[in-house]
Amino acid sequence: MNFHEYQAKDLFASYGIPVPRGIVASTPQAAVAAARELGGEIWVVKAQVHAGGRGKAGGVKLAKSLEEVRNEAERMLSMKISTYQTGGLELPVDNVLIAEAVDIASELYLSALIDRVHRCVTFMGSAAGGVDIEQVAATEPEKLITVQVDNTAGLQPFQARQMGFGMGLNGTQVRQLTQIMGGIYRLFRDKDLSLVEVNPLIITEAGDLLALDAKINADSNALFRHSDLVAMRDEAQEDPAELAASKHDLNYVTLDGNIGCMVNGAGLAMATMDVIQLHGGEPANFLDVGGGSNAARVAEAFKLIVSSERVEAILVNIFGGIVRCDEIAEGIIAAVREVGVSVPVVVRLEGTNVDKGKQLLNESGLAIIAADDLNDAAHKAVAAAA
Ligand code: GDP
Ligand code: MG
Repeated sequence: MNFHEYQAKDLFASYGIPVPRGIVASTPQAAVAAARELGGEIWVVKAQVHAGGRGKAGGVKLAKSLEEVRNEAERMLSMKISTYQTGGLELPVDNVLIAEAVDIASELYLSALIDRVHRCVTFMGSAAGGVDIEQVAATEPEKLITVQVDNTAGLQPFQARQMGFGMGLNGTQVRQLTQIMGGIYRLFRDKDLSLVEVNPLIITEAGDLLALDAKINADSNALFRHSDLVAMRDEAQEDPAELAASKHDLNYVTLDGNIGCMVNGAGLAMATMDVIQLHGGEPANFLDVGGGSNAARVAEAFKLIVSSERVEAILVNIFGGIVRCDEIAEGIIAAVREVGVSVPVVVRLEGTNVDKGKQLLNESGLAIIAADDLNDAAHKAVAAAA
């Protein structure tokens, strides 16, 4: 689950991580009132969307008067933001964060993430922070410092010092970094996060560290024990198809290709995507309808797949183990009738009651292309989509 910058900064503040003062607003009037309340003469107006790269997309602007705060807030609240991190989606801006402007001496990078290779939380930091950290990682990886945290001992002060001196900080700043990393680590563990990213972590003109931006991601599997995080969910920022899928407990991820996939079991779904690619096609989605699928779930899954304009053919690959093939066939027939599928549907069924399932499909009168095995199915789907 993703969060807005203002939500992440509230969490930062409650864990002793310094952030600039700010107030969130959903109208230009509220933005002006927020700037008045904060005081000062310069503010930053920041569009709140679930993605970084806002600066380059016109979603972060300095305002030197209340009039400018108003104008920038008005402009951002009526825009949709699409950056290299939004995966082709255009995200609505329902809120802006009005923050006191800070004088920046330099921009650093700091993040904590789940390191699957080392099975721990790893901190990554760099003196080369700011908006182009991906570039740094690609071309100058030696400028990235990593620290792996022992799961039992937790983050040790010497590790924060390693990071701080590696970033070229002075003694006072290293002490501040130690507190910031300690706060991030406690927040990470307490809330079952999978990512905390501060880009930029800045050194102010006065020489102090401050988290100027904040991005966090929480492990959705742990949300049942974090009602405070669940309350922060903003569904307007989510992919509509993935949101609908989560409501029906379907594991669905939107992809770039044109072959819609409906498969039972995550492993089989991955294998299906591989075989589609092997035959020169591109999957339009990952979809695991689950082992205990029934006709109703299959129908929901179909609606989801055809809701995408990209889909030019559908490949159904079901292994009937717990679920019976005839029941799946009924679901497919009902769904195709209900939603009026206009693209070719290739079906490969295998397992319990497969003959009955195939018979139902054949007698349905629908234009369904039957396949003998997965290779045959992928081949036919790719040909049908071409
Ligand atoms: P992102 O583009 O979505 O990652 O948004 P950020 O919050 O990281 O802002 C992008 C850039 O705007 C930062 O790297 C800073 O250079 C600049 N910026 C943001 N807040 C301030 C501020 O208070 N003062 C100044 N001078 N620049 C800021
Ligand atoms: Mg940023």
